[in-house]
Amino acid sequence: MTLTPDRPNLKELAEIVSQLNAYGRYFQAAGLEEAGPASRVDTTLITSTVEAAATRRAPVTAAPGPTTASTAKETTLQEIRDELGECTRCRLHEGRTHLVFGTGNPHARLMFVGEAPGQDEDEQGLPFVGRAGQLLTKMIESMGFRRDDVYIANVLKCRPPGNRPPKPDEVATCEPFLRKQIASIKPEVLCALGSFAAQAVLRREDKISSMRGKFFLIDGVTVMPTYHPAYLLRNPSEKRTVWEDLQKIMAVLKKTEGQ
Ligand code: URA
Repeated sequence: MTLTPDRPNLKELAEIVSQLNAYGRYFQAAGLEEAGPASRVDTTLITSTVEAAATRRAPVTAAPGPTTASTAKETTLQEIRDELGECTRCRLHEGRTHLVFGTGNPHARLMFVGEAPGQDEDEQGLPFVGRAGQLLTKMIESMGFRRDDVYIANVLKCRPPGNRPPKPDEVATCEPFLRKQIASIKPEVLCALGSFAAQAVLRREDKISSMRGKFFLIDGVTVMPTYHPAYLLRNPSEKRTVWEDLQKIMAVLKKTEGQ
């Protein structure tokens, strides 16, 4: 069958099939039997994978208005940052020193998402730079990456006072920006750190202890929840568990390297 430019549907189909094959390899590498319920259902996997293909093919557009495949423009992280601006969308802006957008490789294969900036992050304007951040850096390096290779962000961009848990309205306001960051970066794997990040990213209420160590597919992104580094500082015996989760991520990234 010849795929010609005036037959865009066939071309799209070919790309979707190729994406499906790629995702099939992901899940073979990762062990699909360990995937969460949302991923385990074949129809969800197929739907999500088609969405993933569509996202890669026609990325989020920067500006409203008609676009074609050839003019569709990928939303850059800078454009998302510009859209956030000096954000006053929720009350957290009142106490912040810096908005903490995220840092790292805009084309990272691996992305980490935490809860919200703490005091150190608020002071420096960078995610995960305090004690938990130093542990995260060690985790990243033990996986064979440098911090600059991956992308690190949080669900909330501003520090909740006294590091209290984020409130639902704060999450509802801020989360769309995280989703845009994810759509822009298109990581092969997203590691959600702690229950808050995992629940927000996966839109699930489950405990982190039941989600960690399993792969989920959401909006075309493969997600591995694991314990938050701050939890590991309090419970060092769980470092081994997290290392096992990180090794599963490494197995997926190794299998898909160069694809
Ligand atoms: N904890 C988080 O969840 N994010 C940070 O950036 C720092 C600590």
